[in-house]
Amino acid sequence: MSRILLVEDDAALARGLVALLTQSGYDIDAVTTGAAALSHHAVGAYAAIVLDLGLPDLSGFDVLRQVRSDSSRCPVLVLTARSGLDDRVRGLDFGADDYLLKPFEAPELLARLRALLRRSQADPSPSITVGRLTFERANGAFRLGDELLELPRRERAVLEQLVIRVGTIVLREKLADMVFGLNEDVGPNALEVYIGRLRKRLASGGPHIRTVRGLGYMLERM
Ligand code: CA
Repeated sequence: MSRILLVEDDAALARGLVALLTQSGYDIDAVTTGAAALSHHAVGAYAAIVLDLGLPDLSGFDVLRQVRSDSSRCPVLVLTARSGLDDRVRGLDFGADDYLLKPFEAPELLARLRALLRRSQADPSPSITVGRLTFERANGAFRLGDELLELPRRERAVLEQLVIRVGTIVLREKLADMVFGLNEDVGPNALEVYIGRLRKRLASGGPHIRTVRGLGYMLERM
């Protein structure tokens, strides 16, 4: 189920959208201010953001700029009552992926959202940056600052799983399954050993790998 962050301060419209999107099978978090949108975005892994431009605190443009200055390529669908070409161009300049002018019909919103999700799933960004750490998908290379991190196979596999889910908890069992083959005889602490080595490598200004007790690990956003 795709998790969507809805940022809309108009209570009636927000209620309607939450009902519509929930019925359509999305998992929705709804907030009414720019500040709440940014704090949710910082900790949540959203498949897309539906963003109203006219918010009570920050403008939607500020939210968009912040989201784009972060490493995430989370697609953003902007909602606006303003029909001016300026806002549209400005929004696209700031990194909006699509635009919908209010008032709009429910099927149109759903169609745009589906298209955005399809695009972002089909075409992931070529690299992921978390603070000073960069992961290049094409060749699987990790860099810390300008330096190439030369990682043994298992450490690389662990870090890759964490970095592509940055900001979210990766469950221990899942991580172990992805890193070790099913038929391998792996000691109970093997994963901790690799995590420990990675923490040392990242210690000089890289992001932190947090242990989430009883669950797994999370690479923290910076
Ligand atoms: Ca508004």
